[in-house]
Parts: sequence; structure tokens; C-alpha cells
Amino acid sequence: MNYLSTRSLEPGTSRFGEVVLRGLAADGGLYLPVQWPRLGEAQVEGLRGKPYARVAAEVLSLFADDLHGSDIRAVTAEAYEGFGHPAVAPLVQTGPDDFLLELFHGPTLAFKDVAMQLLGPLFDRLLAERDRTMTVAAATSGDTGGAAIAALSGRERVRICVLHPHERISEVQRRFMTTTGAPGVENLAVQGTFDDCQGLVKDMFADEAFRTAVSLGAVNSINWARIVAQSVYYLTSSLALGQAGRPMSYCVPTGNFGDVFAGYVAKRMGAPIGRLIVATNDNDILDRALRTGRHEPRAVQATHSPSMDIQVSSNFERLLFEASGRDAELVTRLMTAQRAGEAFGLPESVRARISEEFSSYRAGSEEVADRMRRAFEETAMLIDPHTAVGLVAADKARAEGLEGPLVTLATAHPAKFPGAVEAATGRIPALPPHAEGLMAAEERFEVVPPRLEAVQRAVQRLAGA
Ligand SMILES: *Cc1c(COP(=O)(O)O)cnc(C)c1O
Repeated sequence: MNYLSTRSLEPGTSRFGEVVLRGLAADGGLYLPVQWPRLGEAQVEGLRGKPYARVAAEVLSLFADDLHGSDIRAVTAEAYEGFGHPAVAPLVQTGPDDFLLELFHGPTLAFKDVAMQLLGPLFDRLLAERDRTMTVAAATSGDTGGAAIAALSGRERVRICVLHPHERISEVQRRFMTTTGAPGVENLAVQGTFDDCQGLVKDMFADEAFRTAVSLGAVNSINWARIVAQSVYYLTSSLALGQAGRPMSYCVPTGNFGDVFAGYVAKRMGAPIGRLIVATNDNDILDRALRTGRHEPRAVQATHSPSMDIQVSSNFERLLFEASGRDAELVTRLMTAQRAGEAFGLPESVRARISEEFSSYRAGSEEVADRMRRAFEETAMLIDPHTAVGLVAADKARAEGLEGPLVTLATAHPAKFPGAVEAATGRIPALPPHAEGLMAAEERFEVVPPRLEAVQRAVQRLAGA
């Protein structure tokens, strides 16, 4: 399997290992496979009811044919042994044909663990093979950072620097990052938004000399391995509930468009998936873009679902590449406008192609709080605000006539956002036993201005370069 960049006119020649270690392509584009691998019908059937790690190994081997099968099986086994549920990503029924897919049973209580836990052992193997080390720079809107630190700290060949927007994430989110006390970990609280953090990471990647000097690596969802790992739970859940002629639809709380794009990948592989619903909070740029064809950034608003407070969704680039018939020139042009903070129009053919498979809905703050309250009244479940954004969107899709089984991705544990949950329901969600010490542990982080030199200095110090 070879990979190409969304901004390159060259035929793709990169292999999976290289794609994972590089993160972002040298031309600033994102990697995609040259062709979509497809599981045959018999292969799909063979995966029904199999253990999660086994399905993950099968999927990874389709995309990573440059890795040994035994390595792949070891990586996936290690990745999922630490989950707090034997199904890893269990389905819970909430209505006659409505389901939640619980993705928060990993160490830091959000779906980011599902992919990040796989990235840890994968990096170990890829770096050992090449006798290299790596300095990971990650921007987080709240959950990626904790998941990355849990997955990567203590690994001999990896150091990690996480940038989070200062005072714009929940305390529980921050504490998952700042209390580990592990060596080789640096937390920077950037005085700006998540988009600033993500821009700074991208700028570090664009600085070729710097990138080489510290051997920079990426774990944001620009990293292809994350998307592959996330496609697995779409496959397992669609096989558990769906069948030919009765495809599953998915409603996905969306920020950087990584998770919902993983659904698209699973569909390309042959999973029985119908519509993919993009759920946004008040930061509704994707909903507006899909409805009107105009991609127009506005100021980021702080909401109770901070992991979705994003205006610049990296992985939307992958969808644009796909929906334009892989037109790298168009993608380069649109992404250059985006980086400059400008609005751009989607060509009508591209918008039409996207709407064949994707719908979108926005959930306002009031609606989200109401939905948390209603979920508690109806099912006695406490739902986190991100998941609630998904449920509001799911309700709206039903109201517009969506039929068949519908799975909403439960992307975080309610205890990660106790303030919002308590305000909506009057109940304080309890942390699971493994996280109980979190609120008393000592924190370590450094506040920095949103400037490249400040961040580069910290990364250099960490890398010892
Ligand atoms: C990251 C995150 C999202 C958004 O996922 P994307 O892949 O960025 O679209 C939604 N909910 C939670 C809890 C998250 O941590």
C-alpha cells in the first residue's frame, strides 16, 4: 500500500511506516492511501463478533503491508489490553433503533485513547527498526494531550510536548496531562485558542531545519495511523448491528473531522455504513460549509464541549481531496486560503458529492444542556456534553426523516466534564476508580504566548537539541 499527499501531483510512493513517522507530508498536505483497500464480503463476515484487537489487526494489516503480521498483532494486543471494558468500544441501546457507541473506556476517558494507545507501541517498533528517537509535538483541544501522554510517556525513544489553550479546557482534561510527573513530557499552556495551538504545531512542521533538528513527530489526527485506528470501531459496531441492505448511520461529534473521516474510511473498506452525520456545537463552520458551500471562519466561541471548539478542521482537507476527485491543485489553493484565515467557496460538484454521504447539524448550548437533562430523565445515563451535541444532531436527523439504525458516538466520559453535567442534571458524575487520585495530584505546566519562538525553545529544550 502506497500513500500520497493531498497537495501533491506526484504519484504516491510513501509506505505506511514512513507516513506514520512523518505525520504531515513535506508539502504540507495530509497522507491518504493511493487506493482504498477493500474487505471482501466473506472477510467482513469473518470479522463479525471477533475480539476488538483482532479486528484492529486485520484493518491495520490492510493499510500497513510494510509491517510484519506478528508485529501488527503484538501492537494491537498491547493497545487494547488496558481498556476498562472487554468489548473496548461497547454499544448501548438508547431507543428502538438508536445506540451509543461508548468510546471512553481507555485510560484518559475519551475516544482519543482508542487510537493513541495503538500509536504508542506502533511508534516503539517503527523507531526501534530505524534506531531513531522522536519528539512529538501535539496541539490539544483538551483530550488529545492526555491520551498522547498516557500512551507515549515512559517510552524510551519518544519525548512529548503538548500545547493546550490556556484556561480553555476542563480541569479534569488538564490534569490528565499535567499530573503524570513523567520525564520527557512538557505541557505548554498557550495564551490563545486551539486553532492557535494547531497553527503553531503546523508551523514547527513547516520549518524543515527545526523539524529535522528535533526529529519532530505528530500524533494529531493529521497522523494517518490515528484515522486507521479509529476506523476499527465503525467496523466492529456496524458488523454487530448492521447487515447488507440495512446499513448503519453514524452521528459524530466533530471538531477536527478526524473521527467522522474514519467512518468514511470504514465505509470505503466495505463496512455496511449509510449516512455519516457531522454534529457541531456553536462553532458550526463545518455545518455552514456543508449546507451553503461557503467555508467561512468566525471567532472561536468557548462552549461546554471544548474539544469541538475549532474553526480550522485539519481533516476536512482529506474529504475535499476525495470529493474533488483527488484534485491536489484545488486542495492546495483552498488550504492556502484557509491558512491565511480567508473564507473559500466549495465548488458545487464537491459540495454535492459530499452531501451524498454526509449530513450535518449544529447543536446550540441550550439544546445541549436540555439533551443531557433529557438523557438522564429517560435512561438514567449521565452523558458528556460532546456526546450530547451528537444526540441533538441525531434527533434533528430523525426529525428530517432519517431511518434505520443510528449510532451516536459517545466520545467522552461524563466525569471529564463534571461542571457541565452537574449544571444540566444536578448530578456529579464519578471518576472511574483508576482516575480517582487525579484531582489531588500536583500539576506541572508552563504558560507561553502564542508565538513560534517561545514554543520552539521549549521543544528544543525537551529534545536536548
Ligand atoms: C476530539 C474530540 C471530538 C472531536 O473529534 P474530531 O476527530 O476532532 O472531529 C469530539 N469529542 C471529544 C470528547 C473529543 O475529545
